[in-house]
Amino acid sequence: MVIFERQSDLKSHLESIVTAKTTVGFVPTMGALHAGHLSLIEQSLTDNDITVMSIFVNPTQFNNPDDLKKYPRTLEKDVEKIKTVSDAVIIYAPTVDDIYNGKTESESFNFDGLENQMEGRHRPGHFDGVGTIVKRLFEIVKPTNSYFGEKDFQQLQIVKKLVSKYQIPVRIIGRPIFREPNGLAMSSRNERLTPEEKQKAAVIFSTLQHAKKMFGTKSVNEVAKYVDKLFQKQKDFKLEYFEIADESTLLPIIRKSKNKKYRAFIAVFVNDIRLIDTISFN
Ligand code: AMP
Repeated sequence: MVIFERQSDLKSHLESIVTAKTTVGFVPTMGALHAGHLSLIEQSLTDNDITVMSIFVNPTQFNNPDDLKKYPRTLEKDVEKIKTVSDAVIIYAPTVDDIYNGKTESESFNFDGLENQMEGRHRPGHFDGVGTIVKRLFEIVKPTNSYFGEKDFQQLQIVKKLVSKYQIPVRIIGRPIFREPNGLAMSSRNERLTPEEKQKAAVIFSTLQHAKKMFGTKSVNEVAKYVDKLFQKQKDFKLEYFEIADESTLLPIIRKSKNKKYRAFIAVFVNDIRLIDTISFN
């Protein structure tokens, strides 16, 4: 297992082992790893000769300074977890300065409107931060394939848009959501939930499942009303948004059409901890 803190060291190492025939898989994360992250590494190890994982809590994608401060940082534990999958993963765990070189700012991006929906609307500047870090990491690692979770479905679509707009030669691969036994989507932020909150947070996914069933026979409005009402009754939860959107444009659906793919998206505060989830409606 090799761990690099500096991009110059990582680049020299990669230059020494990568040839024209080598495929490089890349898994960017912010650490506090769970089984969902590990599944991305496993896929990358299966598909590629070399796998690089980055662990970096990227300050420019946090719109809320308190969220950034409280974001779990568990590098030693993360390394142990990666070792349980493979010793061959190359880890890049840089400092903020190594990435931003004294200028911790986002570039600004136009993702053809994808950035204005849901997470983008509720977390101003978030996708500029995501675009900035992902583009920089791609420049450093130069991956053949890069793996992203569908848990952050909007991010996945935005990264696809980023590589097509900037003609970055990497294939973006979306992977399914890993869940706790009670259905709660795994997330690094779950580490901040009490056992009781974690148990109660199962309501997020069960609501999405119920909404999916309703969507077969009810209008979008009726489904949204049901979700709203349900969260009004949950004392420790605050619904930030629930939306049913077209999977490719991420625009809220106005009228159901047979040949389109739809997906529901939800963001909920459990006390001060913000959780997101999504489910395909097809
Ligand atoms: P993060 O560390 O939260 O930035 O996530 C790093 C990558 O892991 C992103 O591509 C996420 O979408 C993905 N990921 C996060 N949670 C899950 C999950 N529960 N299942 C699958 N992938 C996930």
